Amino acid sequence: MLIIMGLNAPDKDIERVKNKIIKADCTPHEIPGSKKLAIGITGASEKLEREQFLLLPSVEDVIRVTKKFKLVSRMMEPNDTVIDFGNASIGGKELNIIAGPCSVEDKDTMFRIAEEIKKLGLKFMRGGAYKPRSSPYSFQGLKEKGLKILDEVKKEFDLKIVTEVLNPRNLKAVADVADVIQIGSRNMQNFALLQEAGAVGKPVLLKRGMSATIEDFLLSAEYIINQNNYNIILCERGIRTFETATRNTLDLNAVPVIKTNSHLPLFVDPSHGIGIGAKVPAMSLAAIAAGANGLILEVHLEPSKAWSDGYQTISINTLKHLMSKIKRLAPIVEKEFNFSEG
Ligand code: PEP
Ligand code: MN
Repeated sequence: MLIIMGLNAPDKDIERVKNKIIKADCTPHEIPGSKKLAIGITGASEKLEREQFLLLPSVEDVIRVTKKFKLVSRMMEPNDTVIDFGNASIGGKELNIIAGPCSVEDKDTMFRIAEEIKKLGLKFMRGGAYKPRSSPYSFQGLKEKGLKILDEVKKEFDLKIVTEVLNPRNLKAVADVADVIQIGSRNMQNFALLQEAGAVGKPVLLKRGMSATIEDFLLSAEYIINQNNYNIILCERGIRTFETATRNTLDLNAVPVIKTNSHLPLFVDPSHGIGIGAKVPAMSLAAIAAGANGLILEVHLEPSKAWSDGYQTISINTLKHLMSKIKRLAPIVEKEFNFSEG
């Protein structure tokens, strides 16, 4: 349920509405909009009667939110969420690319990749210090040493760092370095991790589980937003289907569907989505055309030498070409994309 009040509703009227919600063992969430103040309700709100609220002073309307997800829903917040990073913002009109290797590699390689990313005018760099690998025998990431390298990259190049947390034990160490905490596909329904990462207060990039429906995905985001953390970037990264010609099936259907249903920014990861570097540019353009707010791409100086996921990684040169195409595509989808030619 969503209680709509005038923007200049007096505090005492707002308090009255909130108290009524709390008395019914539910939680009120104040969502200030540009025209109205909305108070969202989470919890077992079925018991609450619409009429009880309509009678209260300053209440203009009461809307039942029929979807299971509430605070991430566009019904709760019709305007796009825009996450401010100072020199960049994610969501709304601006397109962004988060680029970097699959795993954090040695300092020299990371610095050389960061330098190229910076030259292109990109603001965000990715790289996993903790890697969720299907096989326990595969490289598991540089862990703390990787975080230290990311911290050095961040300081040297003034790039925003996007890196994955695998479990709550490492959350503090990851959050100390990350500008965006990534929660990967395999952890999309690790609810304890979602809650704890959400509570840190830093932006969270949440990747869709490989067998999760769109509803499951948005409900997972709801666990984070419930921690009063509205800075969530959703990320479609492909789902498992019967198809074996590609690593996953990049579900671009999800893009317009999620954009209609949620105010949160939505990124697409075509690297994991298709799993073939040569086909990443095509799917990147398709993702932007479908309405994504940005891309997360695996990029390396020499993809064949990447420590993990080299086959789906693109070179700096391919990234550069792709970016100039995105620049041309952006106005068609009413977006802006700023970058330097390097
Ligand atoms: C990643 O982006 O490094 C990653 C492991 O992706 P996913 O969680 O989508 O598999
Ligand atoms: Mn990878």
